[in-house]
Amino acid sequence: MTVAEAQTRTDVAIALERVRARIAAAEAANDRRPGSVTLVAVTKTHPEAAIREALAAGQRVFGENRVQEALAKYPALKAAHPDLALHMIGPLQTNKVREAVALFDVIETVDRPKLAAAIAAESRRSRQDGIVRHPACFVQVNTGEEPQKAGIVPADADSFIQQCREVHGLRVEGLMCVPPVAEEPSLHFALLSQIARRNGIAALSMGMSADFEIAIAFGATHVRLGAAIFGSRPPAVAGSE
Ligand SMILES: *Cc1c(COP(=O)(O)O)cnc(C)c1O
Repeated sequence: MTVAEAQTRTDVAIALERVRARIAAAEAANDRRPGSVTLVAVTKTHPEAAIREALAAGQRVFGENRVQEALAKYPALKAAHPDLALHMIGPLQTNKVREAVALFDVIETVDRPKLAAAIAAESRRSRQDGIVRHPACFVQVNTGEEPQKAGIVPADADSFIQQCREVHGLRVEGLMCVPPVAEEPSLHFALLSQIARRNGIAALSMGMSADFEIAIAFGATHVRLGAAIFGSRPPAVAGSE
């Protein structure tokens, strides 16, 4: 790094460097290959300026949980950075699938047959348009079986994954979970890892700012971090999750 760069290092750049060091340490501590864990920088509620700081610091994988917010922030950034990968990490309504398939490279929240069918139909339609959009899909599993939370329940996961692949032709590359807030996350991470193994799924998106090192110990390939990089968000509005 040059002196000039060092002088302009931002809070986001400094936080990213710390987080990357913690990820590398967790990889090493758990005999994981260096670089085997992808950092998804979660930018929901944070302005485009913060995303630009992260881009300047070399970050290329980002996550957003709302289609509208992502549409407001990302199209120009993606045009300027063709290697930027955007992950959808929030609940996806079927009426937003067209926009989501056009914008997101990975949809981490595939959790019900109707949504799987809608993503597949939109992928087919994009082929006819000549702009092929076939996003990688992660199946979200509601490991805590919380009624208010999105995700397929563990008992239905195997058949749903099979349906996504064989009926809908989706690229199911990963599983994702958000453990219950008040519970020890390890059991949830272990359960997600088991479901992935028996279905031949390589990617595991689990672990957030508070628990990503535990998730890495349980095999996370993607950790989704917001607060640890961009600082805390305003308190969530009830029902917004
Ligand atoms: C907001 C969010 C994150 C990031 O949470 P932090 O605690 O800020 O790291 C990860 N995953 C999902 C699904 C989220 O909505």
